[in-house]
Amino acid sequence: MSNSVSQANRSQTAHLMPHVSFEVFPPAPKAEERFWTTVSRLRALRPAYMSVTYGAGGSTKDRGDRVVRRMVREPGPEPAAHLTCVGASRTETDAIATGWIEAGVRRFVALRGDMPDMQAFEPHPEGYGGAADLVAALKRHGAEHVSVGAYPEPHPDFRCEDSDLDHLRGKFAAGADNAITQYVFEPETFLRYRDRMRSAGIERPLIVGLMPIFDFAKVRSFSAKCGAVVPAWLEARFAPLADRPDAHHEAAVETAVSFCRRLQGEGVDGFHVYTINRADLTIDICREMGWASEERLAEAAA
Ligand SMILES: Cc1cc2nc3c(=O)[nH]c(=O)nc-3n(C[C@H](O)[C@H](O)[C@H](O)COP(=O)(O)OP(=O)(O)OC[C@H]3O[C@@H](n4cnc5c(N)ncnc54)[C@H](O)[C@@H]3O)c2cc1C
Repeated sequence: MSNSVSQANRSQTAHLMPHVSFEVFPPAPKAEERFWTTVSRLRALRPAYMSVTYGAGGSTKDRGDRVVRRMVREPGPEPAAHLTCVGASRTETDAIATGWIEAGVRRFVALRGDMPDMQAFEPHPEGYGGAADLVAALKRHGAEHVSVGAYPEPHPDFRCEDSDLDHLRGKFAAGADNAITQYVFEPETFLRYRDRMRSAGIERPLIVGLMPIFDFAKVRSFSAKCGAVVPAWLEARFAPLADRPDAHHEAAVETAVSFCRRLQGEGVDGFHVYTINRADLTIDICREMGWASEERLAEAAA
């Protein structure tokens, strides 16, 4: 951990209550300055960590690498680096992972990833066969904490409930520390999945993915691609607000807060916020949830 912030320093600064993490994606070069302003505002809330996505098929590899390395050097919440198996040999994937570990990265999110144009997944001839193989490799290389994906609503490659849960079990058996879900809008969808997981004997931490509705039209289109169900009540609430940004923002805060409160009431204590590189909505949700002190909120507002 030569040029990175020491763990002791980080643990003094970390922690929103309960366990809340934020996800960002590497920005396009022209958006870089705005991105770091957003990151600095989000960091002020002291999330448990900030995860950095890995572009589909490694498409934002260099930008992601810069973001992860800068985050690990700077004070504040540590990064969790996402990594996928698509389009790379084991040697190439290992080189990225070990480079990050040497730079001080301790946390990873290990994913199979998607093929270009969403064709059926084909492992690279010399690559990792899926997320479980990648988890095992990351752990072998010294990663301290590895998260994996989980899907309360059937993923496009879902076969049946038993094989889905066996597959998740395989990722834990390979060394995953927790699973983060694809976002859902109905708390009950998450709770039923958690129940199924527990009934199948998988007693491992499950973090719920929260997608704040920063722009309903965009969220709807993104959801169609990743298979997340947009309930009719959500459509009815947001469709009339397309030209009313303040009302849309207020509805987005209320929707997220009601979702989180319902789940907290059911004992859920891990939330992963897909921030879409926007700070305001995430900050307002944290304020309403009481997840950040006034001092931190004031710092984030600056
Ligand atoms: C928290 C999170 C973060 C993400 N970050 C990124 C990112 O940074 N970059 C990116 O490109 N993508 C990202 N994704 C998307 C992810 O890459 C895609 O959803 C991909 O299609 C699945 O990856 P996975 O590792 O979750 O897959 P897996 O869990 O391996 O497979 C997904 C589902 O397919 C079925 N399945 C697959 N293989 C089997 C099998 N052998 N037997 C039985 N069932 C099987 C299961 O139902 C399983 O739940 C993320 C997803 C999540 C939930």
